[in-house]
Amino acid sequence: MKAKTDTIIIRYAEIGLKGKNRHEFENKLVDNIKSNLQYNKKDFSSIIKIRGRLIIKSNERCDCLKDVFGIASFSHAIETSQGIKEIHEEVNGLVEQSGLNKENSFCIRVQRVDKSFPKTSIEIEREIGEFVVNKTNAKVKLKNPEFTYYIELIEGKAYVFSEKINGYGGLPVGSSGKVVTLLSTGIDSPVAAWMAMKRGCSTIFVFNYNYPFADKQEKDYAYGLFQILRRFDSQARMYTVNFGVIQQKIKDSVNPRLRCIVCKRFMYRIADQIAQKEGAKAIITGESIGQVASQTLDNIYCENKASDLPVLRPLIGMNKQEIIDIAKEIGTFEASIKTSGKCGLLPAHPATKAKIKKIEKEEKKIDILDLVAMAVETAEGFS
Ligand code: ATP
Ligand code: MG
Repeated sequence: MKAKTDTIIIRYAEIGLKGKNRHEFENKLVDNIKSNLQYNKKDFSSIIKIRGRLIIKSNERCDCLKDVFGIASFSHAIETSQGIKEIHEEVNGLVEQSGLNKENSFCIRVQRVDKSFPKTSIEIEREIGEFVVNKTNAKVKLKNPEFTYYIELIEGKAYVFSEKINGYGGLPVGSSGKVVTLLSTGIDSPVAAWMAMKRGCSTIFVFNYNYPFADKQEKDYAYGLFQILRRFDSQARMYTVNFGVIQQKIKDSVNPRLRCIVCKRFMYRIADQIAQKEGAKAIITGESIGQVASQTLDNIYCENKASDLPVLRPLIGMNKQEIIDIAKEIGTFEASIKTSGKCGLLPAHPATKAKIKKIEKEEKKIDILDLVAMAVETAEGFS
């Protein structure tokens, strides 16, 4: 049974280190928490900043706060006065709720964020520990106890709780600016997007819909991934680009061995245009080096030349298994393995050592600017 709660305490780590910008970061975090709670239809009456903590008044459990970047940890607590009798009473409630008995071990952890309390943390821990032992005969164990009861003393109030939920840390979404993420229906790019969001980037997703050169359902798969990723940024938006027209041109005109690079350069150009429209300052992709034959340094070099924007690849140093582990943790994995991953244009032997001059010559056969402009104009927007 989960304990009743009337307050959520939020702790943040990294944004506390930002010196003069600290207030900006804190305000962004507060905004993002509000959006997250509204998005998840949670009732709350206020969010206030106190001494490096945020205090949310809500009677609901809000586990969705795990998805807000910038949060180091949070706890569902009960607020009471700093009277020792009141604190005993609330600890008592938690002890009963957790079913602590003589077979169990426990410890009390007190933190005096506010040093005005007349006793030291250790004195309070001992006193309340003794009270719990008398009540339950449970054993005090300071290292790895089965149950921990926490008391935080902040600005004249005591907050009592029995659980600290870890957040992902990072920086509040939006505090680092805006990016465009090239989102496919595979495993990698959703993880790349998540990692960029974790570093404070708000993202516009761009999905290039390859139908009829890929399955018709791909559009739904991409939308499904977008919905999952929105948990981490409820303001995120997505464009779905009708890319099939471009792929048809590539099929008709481009040397099959160079198709993949030309295709990727189109994607960068489209992302670049959408970035300009949206005021985004970088493109994010799920590429890493050498994961598939087309992701060689030579090819990445040629692809990069299609846009002046920085192309950031958060997965560059990761192994596939590490990427899969994150995909499972953030809930995108299942949605990412629905795709067959088949591209109807994939040649038997894609070039792995492309030369930029050769690519540019090949692209002269197509009306690139018009195709990109049309793709951006006709893109479908989702929010
Ligand atoms: P992923 O697992 O993200 O699909 P991948 O291992 O299949 O990546 P590629 O097919 O080379 O590798 O794609 C590399 C990157 O290009 C993707 O991570 C994504 O950022 C972008 N990309 C690929 N296909 C699309 C698409 N249809 N729409 C938008 N971006 C795409
Ligand atoms: Mg893919």
